[in-house]
Amino acid sequence: MSTCDDALHEVYSYLDQEVNWYRSFLIRRHLKGCPPCVQAYKFEQRLRIVVKERLHEEVPPEFMDRLRQAIQNGP
Ligand SMILES: [Zn+2]
Repeated sequence: MSTCDDALHEVYSYLDQEVNWYRSFLIRRHLKGCPPCVQAYKFEQRLRIVVKERLHEEVPPEFMDRLRQAIQNGP
């Protein structure tokens, strides 16, 4: 995990709890030294909480993409 692109890709898996302890350690280590990735991480984290609260079920990836775009583009 050397670049932010790699790190962000891992962050998505991390939030979906698909990573083992070593990868989550690497992610947290990268986040410590990289504020832009922390922002992205917090954004994704909030997005997942919102979606879970509203739907209480599995969300299709296409829906997550659309929602992410909508939030990033603003109203
Ligand atoms: Zn980064």
